[in-house]
Amino acid sequence: MENEFRIPADQGIAGHVATTGQILNIKDAYSHPLFYRGVDDSTGFRTRNILCFPIKDENNEVIGVAELVNKMNGPWFNRFDEDLATAFSIYCGISIAHSLLYKKVHEAQFRSHLANEMMKYHMKVSEEEVSKLLVTGIEPVKEIHSCYAEFTYTPRSLPDDTTPLCVLSMFEDMGFINTYKIDLHTLARFCLMVKKGYRDPPYHNWMHAFSVSHFCYLLYKNLRLSNYLEDIEILALFVSCMCHDLDHRGTNNSFQVASQSVLAALYSSEGSVMERHHFAQAIAILNTQGCNIFEKFSRKDYQRMLDLIRDIILATDLAHHLRIFKDLQKMADDGYNTKSRTHHSLLLCLLMTSCDLSDQTKDWKTTRKIAELIYKEFFSQGDLEKAMGNRPSEMMDREKAYIPELQISFMEHIAMPIYKLLSELFPGATELYETVAANREQWTKVSHKFTIRGLPSNNSLDFLDQEYELLQSQGAFGSDDHCLNGCLDDTDGGQGQ
Ligand code: AMP
Ligand code: ZN
Repeated sequence: MENEFRIPADQGIAGHVATTGQILNIKDAYSHPLFYRGVDDSTGFRTRNILCFPIKDENNEVIGVAELVNKMNGPWFNRFDEDLATAFSIYCGISIAHSLLYKKVHEAQFRSHLANEMMKYHMKVSEEEVSKLLVTGIEPVKEIHSCYAEFTYTPRSLPDDTTPLCVLSMFEDMGFINTYKIDLHTLARFCLMVKKGYRDPPYHNWMHAFSVSHFCYLLYKNLRLSNYLEDIEILALFVSCMCHDLDHRGTNNSFQVASQSVLAALYSSEGSVMERHHFAQAIAILNTQGCNIFEKFSRKDYQRMLDLIRDIILATDLAHHLRIFKDLQKMADDGYNTKSRTHHSLLLCLLMTSCDLSDQTKDWKTTRKIAELIYKEFFSQGDLEKAMGNRPSEMMDREKAYIPELQISFMEHIAMPIYKLLSELFPGATELYETVAANREQWTKVSHKFTIRGLPSNNSLDFLDQEYELLQSQGAFGSDDHCLNGCLDDTDGGQGQ
């Protein structure tokens, strides 16, 4: 500002009020020792009297001073004017505090935009990567593996760098690309961005998201999902599977709250902290230039798609699953009604959870390998909790967790009831339930070998496999009529690690 006067904060009448915090009522300005006549002399203005009062913040600190000059209709400012000024100063204080806060919020918003811009820059998928992915064309699923569409197939066996191409093959095989006129470059960019959006904790990484998505494909191929759900719901389920654990940090919801993480600050009041973040990350990817696979949708379908993805991702919180379990059971008892919107929503939640826990429907080696990864991640969280001075839950405490018992409990109380419900709704899913039940039995069989709490020092549970391998070599699992593509070999160099 051009005509701004600056005087030291402790000089003159304003300075006195600023330092003492007391109101000053001057009846005759020229006779007051603190009054400076210089300005009146140079401007010709005549100051007769002054009411100068402080403006304070909520901590009673002086943040400003206001001056009223030359009382009209009276010789000087009186007691009534002083009271009025004091009341007025409170409003001034609130207004100033609000405007400072508003400025701070604006600054924080800009900082957040800046951080977002930088993140987008570093997460960017290069055009070379997109072209490389598309150069060979989309491979038919049969060429990935002859058993790629069978429940026994273990997608974690695939090398990490082939998984984006497999996702494209599944999109093509389910007819999504054709039905929804999805641009191939956009789809390739979207898939690469989603893969990049995952961090690398032992379990909640891209390989988990990929295998969950593959299981959704298996449901589509083996259970005639189109007889139960609309096309748009099936597409939403598949995309949700891909995105459902985006940016997972290897720690759960209660850890976010206990550690007062930024995610808890944003979402804890609504619950399902991590799941809300996974959904927000999915939206951020869709909003990234060249990544919106739904760009050709009508406004209505676009809104429907986002609503479906939100509801499906939020359903991956096991607490949500337990809340709706009774409703799921009732739906299975009453029979599925294709005309009921509630049944559609409930079924989508159940299918999502079935995909999420689908490692349990594979052979024993997968189940025990997953236990290794899960507990590696859980125990790291437990270690962090101990370092924070908190007591971890038993399953996160490497000194207390007895893995066979915890796995049996998880399978009996969470996994088996899910696949039981699935088999009640879809007769074709019975084999899934049976495999989960067989894996649960295998934990009982191997538990005598398990003499320690936590994990062995090499973090490996392969010592549990000898009996299983012996039985397998004797044909005890009927592998002749099933395609067992071999899964998580410890020597296979990395998938799912
Ligand atoms: P999500 O975090 O979306 O993958 O949700 C699935 C949750 O199920 C995981 O966070 C784990 O808490 C739990 N879970 C999955 N597999 C196992 C397992 N083998 N043992 C214990 N908990 C499991
Ligand atoms: Zn998951």
